[in-house]
Amino acid sequence: MTARLSDSRSAPPGRVILSFDVEAIYHIQAARHVRLTASDCLELAKRLLCQVKWLRRLLGLYDVQATFFWVGELAWRFPYLVRALRRDGHEIACHSWSHRLFTEMSPEEAYQDVEQNKRVLEDVLGEPVWGFRAPSFSILQETNWVIALLRDLGFSYDSSVYPVIHDRYGVARAPRTPFVAVSGNAELLELPPATLQLGPIRLAIGGGGHFRFWPETVCESGIRQLLNQGSYVMLYFHPWEFDTEQPRLPLGWWKSWRTYTGIGGMPQKLERLLRNYKFVTAHEAAKALDSRRDLLPRFTLTS
Ligand SMILES: [Zn+2]
Repeated sequence: MTARLSDSRSAPPGRVILSFDVEAIYHIQAARHVRLTASDCLELAKRLLCQVKWLRRLLGLYDVQATFFWVGELAWRFPYLVRALRRDGHEIACHSWSHRLFTEMSPEEAYQDVEQNKRVLEDVLGEPVWGFRAPSFSILQETNWVIALLRDLGFSYDSSVYPVIHDRYGVARAPRTPFVAVSGNAELLELPPATLQLGPIRLAIGGGGHFRFWPETVCESGIRQLLNQGSYVMLYFHPWEFDTEQPRLPLGWWKSWRTYTGIGGMPQKLERLLRNYKFVTAHEAAKALDSRRDLLPRFTLTS
């Protein structure tokens, strides 16, 4: 890809990166307190498989390649689906072994978790995986040590630093566009989820509950704002967010609202994205960015 950031007459060189975090709904933070039987989990995992199959069909119709960040324990249970996605031309990347947050693990536990995630995916695929996304974007100022861990494990990019203010995650002052995350003497290319900047206010619009909650025009504005800056636009979704018929877990009203709001409109929203934008995988973007790494902003994470 040729990136001509200074030539405003050319089409914006940016592209949208469509990513999916492949996890079951019982992996999410809001559902951690819910007691589920083994058969409940099996049922929810089956629904996840149906949603991934639906995504394969839809992405195939539009000839769009996406990046699928897999929870390792699911990849281990369903290796044929990981391989099928790869055969379709999608990128496979890591989303931890069992979706534990870095804020709840020691560096040693985190290393084992991520190493197992990467090793199992690479065994399933027979090729290296390059990308990582932390559960619940849990690379924060205080967990900046994860950058060195990911570098040591051979990742070429990360997509876990959400440059917003949020109650559970976020590094508010981090750049909105791809940057080099620095922690001590470790560096890693960071592909931050998409935001919309309105004067001093920065809104998270890149996916999940934000994308379900905001009117489409708000999300579109953020995407176009980043594209017009020549940036890549990282969007992230979860297969369960497209499962309009799923049984509702007893999460309490607030967590239920955050988890399930807007799911009914998500299949149509995704299809409109597929119609309206051009896409690359995160690894393709990372390779292109690496060739002009010296021009990227650098941001130091410190606790
Ligand atoms: Zn996740």
